[in-house]
Amino acid sequence: MGESIMSSPFRPRYSARKALAFVVALLIWAGWTNRAAAEVILDHSLCHAVSQETAAVNAAPPPLKCTGMPENYQRGSLWLRADIDELPVDPRNLVLLVHNSRFDRLQVSFTYGDGRVVRQAVKGGTFAAHWRTGGQIAFEAPMRDVPLQFVTMRFDRLASINLLRMRLIDRDEANVQATALSISVAAALTLLLIGALYNSTLAFSLRRQFPVWQAAWAICMLAWGTIWSQLHLFLLPGMAGAVSAQACTALACLAVTLAAFSAVTALDAHILPRSVRRTTLGLAAAVGLFGLPLTFMRQGPIDTMAAVLGILILGVLFGVAFCLAWAWRKGSAEARTFAGAWSLPMLALGSVQFVDTNAIFWGGGSQLMVLFAAAWQTLWLAAAASRTHAQLRIEHDRARRAEAQAHELARRDPLTGLRNRRGFVEAVAPMFELARSGASPLALLLLDIDKFKRINDTYGHDTGDMVLATVARRISRWEGPMCKVARLGGEEFALMVGGMDSFSLARFAQSVRQEIAACDHTEVIDCGTVTVSIGVAEAGPASDFRELYRHADEALYCAKHEGRDRVAFHQPEAPLQQAGDNPQIQAAQ
Ligand code: GH3
Ligand code: MG
Ligand code: MG
Repeated sequence: MGESIMSSPFRPRYSARKALAFVVALLIWAGWTNRAAAEVILDHSLCHAVSQETAAVNAAPPPLKCTGMPENYQRGSLWLRADIDELPVDPRNLVLLVHNSRFDRLQVSFTYGDGRVVRQAVKGGTFAAHWRTGGQIAFEAPMRDVPLQFVTMRFDRLASINLLRMRLIDRDEANVQATALSISVAAALTLLLIGALYNSTLAFSLRRQFPVWQAAWAICMLAWGTIWSQLHLFLLPGMAGAVSAQACTALACLAVTLAAFSAVTALDAHILPRSVRRTTLGLAAAVGLFGLPLTFMRQGPIDTMAAVLGILILGVLFGVAFCLAWAWRKGSAEARTFAGAWSLPMLALGSVQFVDTNAIFWGGGSQLMVLFAAAWQTLWLAAAASRTHAQLRIEHDRARRAEAQAHELARRDPLTGLRNRRGFVEAVAPMFELARSGASPLALLLLDIDKFKRINDTYGHDTGDMVLATVARRISRWEGPMCKVARLGGEEFALMVGGMDSFSLARFAQSVRQEIAACDHTEVIDCGTVTVSIGVAEAGPASDFRELYRHADEALYCAKHEGRDRVAFHQPEAPLQQAGDNPQIQAAQ
């Protein structure tokens, strides 16, 4: 088979039915209605002659036969002659389009009614102005008043006559086709490029096996499409000819292998029967391996090998279809996605196997169909993978939010909403860093409500809670970048204050005491006021939380001992002393 059949790798699958059917119908309709009226497909019924050795460049053909099939042409020259008189074409305005295949040299002779012969030739690496998009080589018959009589093609070292696709076509029609084909090829390759890039990105970000196969497949298809359409000749004109045809065969076989691996590895291995999975992957690998000798062959049983390869490819298609159907039946979500993605390529390949599509799509034939189907498949899967990825992200974000919430809750006091001891210790850690570096002084104010037990005993526990909440609300207003507040337990609160010297701190502690005492509790308790005692300790250069807390607690004890509703400072050296009457400041030892 070689280039034409093999360059149509893919496999069918069913799903996304209505949209898909519509697109396929539209494509086929567009392709078919574009069959040029002024177009004749040249087949093997042409008169032919063979010389066993490659003939001299402008040698005349040996006597031509118009029956039977030419044989033993692979090492020599094969002549094929089209008699223009017998064909429904305009003999004054013709272009011969030949699809690139495996041959060393192709010479086309236009013979006119007056006996004049005009020769044009291409050979490997020198297609010059003859190459066209879609793998075609164009030979334009010079316009003369005399009508054209024969077109004779001479192929040197042709690999297989079965791979030849030749059309005689009206010049204007050829131009229209060339434009339409170029646009289609450019569109398909652009879509494939987007798909290939996107899938490669996914392969890197998801770090799973299947997107890697998928990206490799998309890149392989892109390379195949570029070489089949001959766009690579812009950069590498020396690749014109058999080398490109052979590269197409290799890439097409590789694409089948990669596509099958991509589809099968995307499905959960435990769902599939082991033997089916292994057979399918084995067949896919066989296609890749079988493609190797076929890529390099220029002579020998190419047609037979191509037929075997065709059967292997159908086997792979069947295997993949079976795997998908099986996984779908077992409820696999991946199978559904894949069925949608693969249905179009499989339909394309199916139609290539059973319908002659070579003349449709402006001469692009099955290959163009396959290119579009591949672009569809790549983009479909990229979209599906993105959706899955996005869902995973949403779930991940949700989990992180819940985790953050749980983290926060574990650090808050449920009654007042203030930090608990754990949250407080974490929140003030950076303030200790600052204090240690000497950048900012630090002090702890420990507050304890006076005679709180009495409130509980007199009005009940719930009322006690309300008083606690009111005090906490007032305390929370001091919260800021330089002041962290917390309820450390029971009726004990704390404020860690940064950036204040001793004098400012004394004033601040007094104002805290006064502000809390000024809170109105008349709605819940008769006396309406609640006072606090405050112990204050300033951090030294080597202080940690435990030490600072101990010092503040000692100062608080002093404040209580001296009569409550007052502020006491911890002063390591000085003995315990009253720090003024009003403001009531004390120092604790
Ligand atoms: P002092 O002035 O010496 O601090 O006297 P006090 O009564 O405030 O101290 P004491 O430690 O004897 O009593 C504290 C009371 O606080 C005892 C306990 O029942 C009460 N308490 C602790 N936590 C809560 C709480 O969450 N809600 C209520 N309503 N009461 C609480
Ligand atoms: Mg108390
Ligand atoms: Mg207490």
